[in-house]
Amino acid sequence: MGLFSKKEYDGEHDFPLWKKGGVCDVCGKSITGKNAYIIPVKEFYASDKYREYYLKSGVEKALSNPVLTRLNATPQQIALSVLESLSNLSKSDTSPAAVCKDCVEMFE
Ligand SMILES: [Zn+2]
Repeated sequence: MGLFSKKEYDGEHDFPLWKKGGVCDVCGKSITGKNAYIIPVKEFYASDKYREYYLKSGVEKALSNPVLTRLNATPQQIALSVLESLSNLSKSDTSPAAVCKDCVEMFE
């Protein structure tokens, strides 16, 4: 029973289809139940490509955040704190991720 009780695949990717709405856990694009996949939480955080993406977008976000730039954090310090937040997320997150068609290749 539960989320994985009725897996459906589209034959294009190895992950079951995400049948609900919501937003992509990677890029934040809205998903409609036809264009997204379920990624098990372990595989989600184990993806090097996703970690790279998270780091890059996290550093970009931080660099455009006036509070952080006022603290004069170096890019290295910012990168470390972004990686730390990802590591914390990976420890506390227990539900599978919803990932859109554009992002699913990061996990294959
Ligand atoms: Zn996406």
